[in-house]
Amino acid sequence: MLKKLFKLFTAPGKATTDPQVLTSGNHPIKRRQISNGAIKTIETLQARGYDAYLVGGCVRDLLLGRHPKDFDVATNATPDQVKELFRRARIVGRRFQIVHVYMGREMVEVTTFRANHNGGHRQAVQSAQGQLLRDNVFGDINEDAQRRDFTVNALYYHPADDTLFDYANGLPDIEARQLRMIGDPETRFREDPVRMLRAARFAAKLDFSLEPATAAPIPELAPLLSNIPPARLFDEFLKLFLAGHALATFRVLREYRLFGLLFPETDELLASDDGFNQRFIEQAMRNTDARIAAGKPVTPAFLLAALLWPVVVKGDAFYRAKGEAPAMAMQKAAGHTVAQQVSRIAIPRRFSLPMREIWEMQGRLPNRSGRRAEHLHSLPRFRAAYDFVLLREQAGEILDNLGDWWTRYQDADPDEREAMVSKLGGRSGGGRRRRRPRKRPPAGATS
Ligand code: ATP
Ligand code: MG
Repeated sequence: MLKKLFKLFTAPGKATTDPQVLTSGNHPIKRRQISNGAIKTIETLQARGYDAYLVGGCVRDLLLGRHPKDFDVATNATPDQVKELFRRARIVGRRFQIVHVYMGREMVEVTTFRANHNGGHRQAVQSAQGQLLRDNVFGDINEDAQRRDFTVNALYYHPADDTLFDYANGLPDIEARQLRMIGDPETRFREDPVRMLRAARFAAKLDFSLEPATAAPIPELAPLLSNIPPARLFDEFLKLFLAGHALATFRVLREYRLFGLLFPETDELLASDDGFNQRFIEQAMRNTDARIAAGKPVTPAFLLAALLWPVVVKGDAFYRAKGEAPAMAMQKAAGHTVAQQVSRIAIPRRFSLPMREIWEMQGRLPNRSGRRAEHLHSLPRFRAAYDFVLLREQAGEILDNLGDWWTRYQDADPDEREAMVSKLGGRSGGGRRRRRPRKRPPAGATS
């Protein structure tokens, strides 16, 4: 259906103030695909004389035949005017104010039309690198379209009239399945470097390509991401890796040299090792995507544990070589790794604590003798730590079938468990057991 519609369109790249308008029957969007909350929000705004449209990812996804994750609304009402109209609504954001309107269990994001910050007298606040620090200059719908990131994200849909508006030539790019930055790509990436991560995320999620002029400046501008507050990067991290397309996203991020800005130490180790680290991380991504596809819960703690594991392993070896006891070496390596990482991506403690437990339990799961197995099995982090062992083995690490042993242990009854433990015979089991290291550093170790 879309294909046929595109005959109407002018060539891409046309600077336009007149939108392409596709009236009812000339586009594939059906009103029933739109959430009740979004429809009600728009109707309420219109009843008070404001303009209101669906915009952004939801319109894009509907055109692609995908189920939108959420519905965003754009309006000419100011945030205060929006808030006044709804019983349950609050204004959020500073850099960019939006209103969260709650409708039953649904939340609809309502954004006021923004003007292009370069629009003469009305300046938004900008840093020396061209980064937009405040972006609350209101404008009309056409200006609003021009300040959005990609052409495919700047489509507006009016449910009452069942009409689609394209102010930025997004429809040809939907058809070509490509992401094209609106305006000059370099300028727009400088205004907000997170747009580079968004490009990678949408490319992976939608299986779109980056239009060449949009892709070109990214590797060189990637270092601008170090100006982004770590808390915002944590939010982006979640969207990048916990939306069901982690593996594809990881590959795109590496292709455009963005990954190193998020996980610098991991990135270095990916370049230098024999391929184990890459297999390991890709396997973690694959498992995460599979869990999400199966509707199972995922935690950022596990994925972060995997993404930083190469760094922890390296640190652990370093501290052991300095003569630290294994538990202490692991603890120091974990502490160092987290301290470095949070300067890039702020990891809330509710995730960094379980992440560290997963790491620390890697050293403990091989020691199963006596009552240890029973105790380990009872710990709250056992399941995640066990999954992590399986992941290491899946990626090719040899752990003397440790994962298999624990799989059988979990399925066994108490008698069988006891037999399993006594079969370990004196040794605490697992080939990686080491003798207690001497206090003195071994000969040749630097300190
Ligand atoms: P998703 O499916 O992930 O929700 P989305 O396109 O809706 O994708 P959002 O982060 O919800 O993404 O943003 C909604 C819309 O706001 C985008 O489609 C885009 O038009 C605009 N937008 C969001 N972030 C930016 C940005 N950093 N720069 C310019 N426009 C942006
Ligand atoms: Mg959205």
